[in-house]
Amino acid sequence: MALSRLASQFAAEIKQHDWSDAPYRIDRAGHNRASDSNCGDEVLSENEAQNVRTNVMWVTAQVLGYSDPNFDVYEFAEASGVNILTRSGRQSGHIRVGLRTDSAGRYMRPGTWEFDPEYITTETSDFYHADLYCNAFQRGYRGAKLLTFPIDGTVPEKWNPCAHCVGDRA
Ligand SMILES: [Zn+2]
Repeated sequence: MALSRLASQFAAEIKQHDWSDAPYRIDRAGHNRASDSNCGDEVLSENEAQNVRTNVMWVTAQVLGYSDPNFDVYEFAEASGVNILTRSGRQSGHIRVGLRTDSAGRYMRPGTWEFDPEYITTETSDFYHADLYCNAFQRGYRGAKLLTFPIDGTVPEKWNPCAHCVGDRA
């Protein structure tokens, strides 16, 4: 799946920016030492500069992933100029580990360590739940795509409240 327009624009900026002197000087977006007649002598190692780029990619990805259910962090990282492969050439799991997500792929709200309170279910489920960790949900969950509904909205009638986690709240 292609990146959203916004995501690919963020990636393009993160990729083109020269992060090698990021701690030492303030410069414009798109800074490039090669074309900067006023650049200082202090530079990060290639590894350090790449770490800065990766961190910038992650904080940006947290917002993009929170806002867009189709966001693909691997595609975004690669477009940002971050290496997504392990030495053996496979997709590196650490790209995903840098995000604040849960086992179903939900993103924590930007600027917090919290998930939005919402009801969750799946297309084939009969019930909706208040919590990913409800035992009844976990027993039936087979890794299908999660459907979510705002807690202060209405859940379509197709799903009934789970007696274990929603029952007394609905
Ligand atoms: Zn439940």
